[in-house]
Amino acid sequence: MAKVHEIEAKNILTKSNLPSADYVINPYTGCAFSCSYCYASFMGRFVDEPLENWGKYIYIKTNAVELLDQKLASMRKKDKSIMLASVTDAWQYIEEKYEITRNLLKTLVKHEYPGKIQCLTKSDLILRDLDIIKQLKNVEVGFTITSTKNKISKALEVAAPGVEKRLEALKVFNENDIKTYAFIGPVFPYFMNKPDELEDMFRVIKESGTNDIFIDMLNTKDYIAKNLEPRISQQSEDVQKAYWAIKNDDKEVLAFKRYIMKLVKKYDLNLNNKKR
Ligand code: SF4
Repeated sequence: MAKVHEIEAKNILTKSNLPSADYVINPYTGCAFSCSYCYASFMGRFVDEPLENWGKYIYIKTNAVELLDQKLASMRKKDKSIMLASVTDAWQYIEEKYEITRNLLKTLVKHEYPGKIQCLTKSDLILRDLDIIKQLKNVEVGFTITSTKNKISKALEVAAPGVEKRLEALKVFNENDIKTYAFIGPVFPYFMNKPDELEDMFRVIKESGTNDIFIDMLNTKDYIAKNLEPRISQQSEDVQKAYWAIKNDDKEVLAFKRYIMKLVKKYDLNLNNKKR
C-alpha cells in the first residue's frame, strides 16, 4: 500500500517539454500503479523520496482545483494544449476517494476551455468521468496498452489495472465518439520471442475502434534500469535475453522494430510518434 500525504502545491499548470502538450497537470506526485519501467521515478527528488520508493508514496495536491480555477480565470488566451497527466496516473486508485482529477475536468468545463485536453491513463476509473469528458470542447483520451493479457502486463505494471479493463474502457470511449489513442509503450521485451502475441495486440487495438497510436520502446536509462532490472531478473530466460538485447541495441532489435512497423501498416494504424 502506498503511503498517502496531503500537500499544497504552488502551481498546477506546468509548462511541458513534450511535443504533444504545451502544459501538463499532475494532480499527484507519485503513482501507486508502480510500473517497474516508469520514467517518472525521478519525481521523488521533489518530495524527498528515494528512487527505489517509487510506487510506495502518493502526495495529493489538495489545492489543485483551486489553483487551476484561479489560473484559468487569469488566462487571456486559452488555446494551449494540456495533458493530464505526465508523471503520475491521474486516475490511480486514490482518485476514487479524492476526486481531484474529476474536479479539475469540471473546472476546465466551467471555463469552457477550447484548447486540446489530452487524458492518458492505465485506469478504467476514467469511465467514471465520461460525463464530464463529453462536455470538454476538444478532448482526446489515451490508454496505455502493453499487451492483451493481464498476466503479461502484470510482470512490469505491478499494481496497475489489468490491460483487459483498459481495452474495454477504450472501446467505451470509442462507442461514445470520443477521440482516442493507444499508447503502446513500452513495447515489452517479452514480445521479441512472441511475434504472434504482439500482432494480437495490434489487432485488438484496431478492433476497439482506435486508429491512432504512439509507440515507445523500452527506456533503459540508468535511473530507470535501477528499478526495472530487479524485476526483469525474475522473468523467464527468454525475456531476460530480450531485455539485454534491447539495452545493448543488438542487431535483432532492428528486425523487431521493422516487424512492429509491418504491423502498424498491416492494421492500417496512424503512428503519431512525431507529435511526441
Ligand atoms: S501508471 Fe504511469 S506514472 Fe504510474 S507508475 Fe505506471 S508509468 Fe509511472
